[in-house]
Amino acid sequence: MTGRLSAHPYTRALAALVVTLSAAAGDAQTKIAPDPNRYSLQQDVELGQEAAGEARRQLPMLDDDRVDDYVENVGAHLVSAIPAELRHAGFRYTFDVINQKEINAFALPGGPMFLNRGMMEAARTEAQMAGVMAHEIAHVALRHGTAQATKGQKFQIGAVAGQILGAIVGGAAGTAISQGSQFGLGAYFLKYGREYERQADLLGAQMMARAGYDPREMANMFKIIQAEGGRSGPEWLSSHPNPANRSDMIAKEAALLRVQGDANTGQFASIQSRLRGMSPAYTAEQIAKGQARRRPVGTSGRTVVNVDPPSSRLRTYTPTEFLRVSIPANWEQLDAGDALTYAPDGGFIEANGQTAFTHGVQIGIAQGGSGDLRRDTQQLLQTFTRGNPDLRAAGGTRRDTIGGRAGLTTPLRNVSEVTGQPEYVTLSTTQLGDGRVLYLIGVAPENEARTYESAFRRVRQSLQIADR
Ligand SMILES: [Zn+2]
Repeated sequence: MTGRLSAHPYTRALAALVVTLSAAAGDAQTKIAPDPNRYSLQQDVELGQEAAGEARRQLPMLDDDRVDDYVENVGAHLVSAIPAELRHAGFRYTFDVINQKEINAFALPGGPMFLNRGMMEAARTEAQMAGVMAHEIAHVALRHGTAQATKGQKFQIGAVAGQILGAIVGGAAGTAISQGSQFGLGAYFLKYGREYERQADLLGAQMMARAGYDPREMANMFKIIQAEGGRSGPEWLSSHPNPANRSDMIAKEAALLRVQGDANTGQFASIQSRLRGMSPAYTAEQIAKGQARRRPVGTSGRTVVNVDPPSSRLRTYTPTEFLRVSIPANWEQLDAGDALTYAPDGGFIEANGQTAFTHGVQIGIAQGGSGDLRRDTQQLLQTFTRGNPDLRAAGGTRRDTIGGRAGLTTPLRNVSEVTGQPEYVTLSTTQLGDGRVLYLIGVAPENEARTYESAFRRVRQSLQIADR
């Protein structure tokens, strides 16, 4: 991934209201103008491809030719209805079906879309399924993921700082993150605000009408999603929160639109019965526990797989506009919810229904700093240790250089919930221009601490932060 660091990417004021009603005669539909975006089209494509690769590795793909062909057919038809001004060079819309039970779908920057089998089974008509797809395509065409990152929302992860370390070092929080997490980069780009939901509904409705589907079926599908969400609420709604009066808003827009022809393929019923004849789809929980994974990760039981030592070669990532970091080349960016996580193969292991990191680093940002790094670091340490009774300081906090600026590093000791073995943990912190604290956590088994500490140090020194 390439990209230039740029100054002040997240201190910009929020963009002005971007949806305006058109007064032009004969063109009644709501006009939607994309928000400012500091990312290049090529960066959208690269970010999306990277996350899509991760999704295909980590989630159980259905891989059924007939179902895939069908979804691609519907998707391609909707893509042809994207307005000319929102067709971006290099974007490629692809459609994969995940063999997962819960009603969900997501699309990544640049075009890769993933639909859960549960979504296809819950829809009552092709147009309802197409409604969710049109909504997702609209997010991609409007570049909502990177527009949101441009506003700096991407890195507001301080609220879960306590969980993050918990996830690395195991314990109850580790389970929470394995169940609640998306994967890799995707997590940053999949949660939208209500205004973007409104835009995606409106543009999605317009595309549906142009493609030949009744846009009101999108609103009907949202009602199904809401009703079938289950106890904790549907996952789809947690990343696509309901804008005000969603159904009314879609119905009003639909009244302004003329449905052009009939796009219905007539295949929906037979595709549904094909799906229903298959063995049951995996649940999110099974997937989180690794029971559905196609690629084995780690091992089971209280043992640790052999993990290759950190490569001396580094690979550079630019996970966000203001951050660049070099990581040992044999580490990968991983499935870990709301923080950037890099770990070697086998360093992310699942055992006894728990997920934990045993080797690697995680980078995050804590909100609400006091401006005093030492004090903020102590507070962060308290947050972490509160949820992890085995975690304690293993030496004093010392001055360090993090990304070329003044920082602090504290060595810690923990007992891995997964392996039962002592664990070496370091917490490094530095202040950002706006007072927030950027932190970097390194984790390794204690008997490998020396090897890993030198890797952690190289990662800390490699950081480039362009926040001022
Ligand atoms: Zn949405």
